[in-house]
Amino acid sequence: MSSALPYKKGLHSIDPYIPGKRLEEVVKELGLSKVIKLASNENPLGCSPRVPEAAVAVLQAPSRYPDGGNSELKAELSRLTGLGPQQFVIGAGSFELIAFVAETFIGPGDEAIMPTPSFSWYGTVTKLQEGRIIQVPLTTHNVDLDAIKREITAKTKVIWLCNPNNPTGTIFTDEQLRRFLEDIPSSIVVAMDEAYCDFVTGGQGYPDTLNWIGRYPNLIVLRTFSKIYGLASLRIGYAAASEETADYMNRCRQIFNVNAVAQASALAGLKDAGFRERVYENNRLGKEYFYKTFGELGLDYIPTEASFIMVHTGQDSDTLYQQLLKEGVIIRPGSAYGMREWLRISIGTMEENRIFIEALRKVLKAPEAAGSSKN
Ligand SMILES: *Cc1c(COP(=O)(O)O)cnc(C)c1O
Repeated sequence: MSSALPYKKGLHSIDPYIPGKRLEEVVKELGLSKVIKLASNENPLGCSPRVPEAAVAVLQAPSRYPDGGNSELKAELSRLTGLGPQQFVIGAGSFELIAFVAETFIGPGDEAIMPTPSFSWYGTVTKLQEGRIIQVPLTTHNVDLDAIKREITAKTKVIWLCNPNNPTGTIFTDEQLRRFLEDIPSSIVVAMDEAYCDFVTGGQGYPDTLNWIGRYPNLIVLRTFSKIYGLASLRIGYAAASEETADYMNRCRQIFNVNAVAQASALAGLKDAGFRERVYENNRLGKEYFYKTFGELGLDYIPTEASFIMVHTGQDSDTLYQQLLKEGVIIRPGSAYGMREWLRISIGTMEENRIFIEALRKVLKAPEAAGSSKN
């Protein structure tokens, strides 16, 4: 395996990529007729019916390069948020935008801080730039802003925050974030990943960060079209920041990073508030259902502000994952996040939620499940 090729140093500390199982593979391997996937926080209602229309129109004439300036999309985002069009960076999903943040601010030997467990990509992009990632454990499943503050050094360039946090679904409030931003040096970038902001039901207290960028130019807000808009396969998201930061981030971007189908689809999605309302409501009802049934089953769970929920089973999550697979339900084992006895369930349609609960009841009763508990 070890050749003399000059692989970059940062790559050594990054785990090789192992793709997740596709739905079709699971169906085939297990010989099941119906499999439901509640593992990747995909939109259970699909996308707005306006999206395929817009996408097909673009596909009629694919020969031209897309608009590298994403001008229509930025104009619409500007109209909706009150920010200037120059304050946006459009990326091939938040994944790419997170990488842009690292490319813009992190160099060899620099430090970045992230909560853990959270979205592991923050760590990967930091290491790719040969930076050092400092992981700060959650406190009772919440991002601990005070503990993060204590890890700041002269080398800290970026603080990654995820609100609501993936995988716990917890939020920190505007008051907490305000205090944090006031306390830390204004030269440290705070990258706020708000992939699940549209699902928050706690309402009061969730920070309206887009309105804070004027006051805190070190704030970068990351949003995606993959979740409430249901465009995960098209790969598109946006960052909002000061004009200066957006300008620098745009220098990292290859000008045609987001294709025309994705741009048109995002625009169509933005214009369908009714669809997003239906998704929000489905999610709200789904989580109420889970709260109730987990309660009945005597299972602990983390109240969630996102489109997924973590439940404590007291059993080994990898074993339960395999057992649930055989029942035709794909979920995310907590082991992936160092939460061995937890499962992360994407909230699905009510039918999918019920199928999951039935499968869970069944496997929790199974003797192998009981025997697998290592406590
Ligand atoms: C799903 C998710 C994203 C979205 O990534 P895309 O590249 O936009 O699909 C970003 N951050 C978190 C925490 C997520 O869970």
